[in-house]
Amino acid sequence: MRIGVPREIFTGEKRVATVPDVVTKLVKLGFEVVVEQGAGELADLSDAAYTEAGATIAPNAAALWSGSDIVFKVRAPTPDEVALMHEGQTLIGFLWPAQNPELMQQLAAKKVTALSIDALPRTLSRAQKMDALTSMAGVSGYRAVVESANAFGRFFNGQITAAGKVPPAKVFIAGAGVAGLAAIGAAASLGAIVRANDTRAEVADQVVSLGGEFVKVDYEEEGSGGGGYAKVMSEGFQAAQREMYAKQAKECDIIITTALIPGKPAPKLITAEMVQSMKPGSVIVDMAAEQGGNCELTEPGKAVVKHGVTIVGYTDLASRMARQSSTLYGTNLFRLTEELCKTKDGVINVNMEDDAIRGLTVIKNGEITWPAPPLVVA
Ligand code: NAD
Repeated sequence: MRIGVPREIFTGEKRVATVPDVVTKLVKLGFEVVVEQGAGELADLSDAAYTEAGATIAPNAAALWSGSDIVFKVRAPTPDEVALMHEGQTLIGFLWPAQNPELMQQLAAKKVTALSIDALPRTLSRAQKMDALTSMAGVSGYRAVVESANAFGRFFNGQITAAGKVPPAKVFIAGAGVAGLAAIGAAASLGAIVRANDTRAEVADQVVSLGGEFVKVDYEEEGSGGGGYAKVMSEGFQAAQREMYAKQAKECDIIITTALIPGKPAPKLITAEMVQSMKPGSVIVDMAAEQGGNCELTEPGKAVVKHGVTIVGYTDLASRMARQSSTLYGTNLFRLTEELCKTKDGVINVNMEDDAIRGLTVIKNGEITWPAPPLVVA
């Protein structure tokens, strides 16, 4: 079968769904690979590198889509892209079925099969190698620290120099899931003093193992909402949490917020008053900007200065490290392809008896199969 990789057309998107190293592996697995001209350009991957790895180059999107049995994408296809699809084709990418009901109908009408990588059952341990949400969150958490360092006018590490003593920066991370833990590791490795909080007490040990200090809210309430995710906390907890965050805002130089609750708007954790209380030159990176923001003053997609504090609300952190994220994403899709092609003969089998495959198959031959039934844990 032929796997096609189009150029991403979403404005500002620099990632690409496969990289030359992965092309080589796909070819070994028996597939042909065709890449649209210029698809990797914004991730510093040339057409020549893809052809050396064994791919052919399609001159435009129409040729790419019409000549592919399977299409690897990063972003969900636009209506124009869906129009290029044909019956029997398989699409793999971040489709976000809950947020995109119209796209689901359009794809079903085209009688295609669609695998949404964001719908992978992440709690299955054998699914971890395919978990693109985790790899993208890891890149984004690291990049959030890089963005904060760029906007911050001082060192992260403490230094004793001939010109005087410099104290280490204090970084506070709100939410210690995948992105938050990556941010803790990156900020600690730059030498900052790192503190973190999460409503799920179980992450405290992970925070410490990455070089951070876990700061508890002075209120007894368990924050796990099932499946490793958070729940909406009680009013009492939220009030106690605001009190603790207000103290951290005054003391810390940098705040990175990553707090999300599945299916809900991002919890508002940093008030305008807290921003006002921060030292001039402080920085907030709000990784929840796209879901409404954890900070009241965040403007999604922008970096703004308010009360002397830079508030970064970029929603494309993974794309800002396009080569790294494309490599990790491409590898996740390769691992998925291996699962789909156990026979190693370049032919995929979307086996609905397999828990991992069932979970992410949102349309099978034109029939909407999302959401998958809950996993039965043996
Ligand atoms: P996420 O992006 O949904 O949320 C980010 C973090 O914000 C979470 O840790 C959450 O607890 C926290 N949060 C939510 N509301 C908060 C609040 N009011 N105050 C402070 N923090 C708040 O989560 P994620 O990073 O995608 O992953 C969440 C969990 O799932 C992690 O524990 C992760 O290890 C786990 N996970 C497990 C697997 C697996 O089992 N294979 C795979 C991926 C992720």
